[in-house]
Amino acid sequence: MTSRNQALFDAAQRRIPGGVNSPVRAFRSVGGIPPFLREGRGAHVWDEDGKRYTDYVGSWGPLILGHAHPNVIRAVQDTAARGLSFGTPTALEVEMAERLCALLPCMEMVRLVSSGTEATMSAIRLARGASGRDLLIKFEGCYHGHSDSLLVKAGSGLLTFGHPSSGGVPDDLARHTLVLDYNDTEGLERAFAEHADRVAALIVEPVAGNMNLVAPRPGFLQAACDLCTRHGAVLIFDEVMTGFRVGPRGAQGLYGIEPDLLTLGKVIGGGMPVAAFGGRRELMEHIAPLGAVYQAGTLSGNPVAVAAGLATLDGISAPGFYEALEKRTRQLVDGLNESAKRHGIRFSAQSVGGMFGLYFAEHCPESYAEVMSCDKEAFNRFFHAMLDAGHYFAPSAYEAGFVSAAHEESDIAATLAAADAYFSKARR
Ligand SMILES: *Cc1c(COP(=O)(O)O)cnc(C)c1O
Repeated sequence: MTSRNQALFDAAQRRIPGGVNSPVRAFRSVGGIPPFLREGRGAHVWDEDGKRYTDYVGSWGPLILGHAHPNVIRAVQDTAARGLSFGTPTALEVEMAERLCALLPCMEMVRLVSSGTEATMSAIRLARGASGRDLLIKFEGCYHGHSDSLLVKAGSGLLTFGHPSSGGVPDDLARHTLVLDYNDTEGLERAFAEHADRVAALIVEPVAGNMNLVAPRPGFLQAACDLCTRHGAVLIFDEVMTGFRVGPRGAQGLYGIEPDLLTLGKVIGGGMPVAAFGGRRELMEHIAPLGAVYQAGTLSGNPVAVAAGLATLDGISAPGFYEALEKRTRQLVDGLNESAKRHGIRFSAQSVGGMFGLYFAEHCPESYAEVMSCDKEAFNRFFHAMLDAGHYFAPSAYEAGFVSAAHEESDIAATLAAADAYFSKARR
């Protein structure tokens, strides 16, 4: 059997570490060969062997309107025809900044960057620069991009400082990051009691989407907000994934909490490299050239990328957009839950807006430890059965999934039928 996917993956591995430009794409967690995708339309993608899949990854979140949405493609083509980059301010950037500030109450000023990693890295530098403090609080299992301060895991004891979770990150830097348990309000209170006046910032995914999906327990985000306010620390909501994904105002709208700083990415670029950080004016005025916190980018605010983002923001502002997206996503998770239950499979699923989590466990997890105790092998078998049947879920038990506005009821129904066929045979 000659497979173009296989041949490409062989070639890729000779020249690109692991054959991929971002590790999770290599399928190491689930095993096997990743499909090399060459085309997407609406809810569907095609690989280099011509096989079609219903896509529940959506480029890991950005494609909320589906693949190759005509308005987004037209915006990109029209803008590109006038030049790709100028390195000067452009009108499109102003439009994007005004739109973001109008949509998100906490956003008084914003700066555009090209990746979520840059957005969180810069927000943390800003928080440290503005507060004159160094200590950062983050939560185990939350991912905020791959900058040094954030590739840190919990130390061995409670409230001990973090250790690097990647080679190449100095211990000395990791010691400035305290890693706590997500959804553990008491742990958070203890950390502030001990380190109160040293905490520059707390960064959190308000709905965690990088350890599968973990929703915040009632009160957890409010406690984080109150503690930051009381102790003069900057509250950073990392909404690179949840922004315009879980609702029209992201997670801050869903839970009614306004962070001091907010990071965005994914959806606001609609598949192109646009991300942003912003928030309270008095904080943002510390950014160069107004203030002493340096941040820059040759391609920041790139007009072609911003045009794709603006067209995507147009799409999501259609009346009833989020109600429809939420309903479709719930159709998927409800159907999977029912089917698994009928066949006696230990499985649960949940959704928030247009993102969802699937767990081979009795209940939806509320902590990193609970996510880690899900049956990974059972997920991997499910994943490959679904992939064979033409339904592409995230290739890891620790990633959230995404539904787009292009997914129709019939797409979801076909996926549910395939899952039901699998569950009926998987019963032990
Ligand atoms: C994807 C993601 C990032 C990193 O964004 P990149 O564009 O991949 O650098 C940061 N934070 C969260 C919550 C994300 O989901």
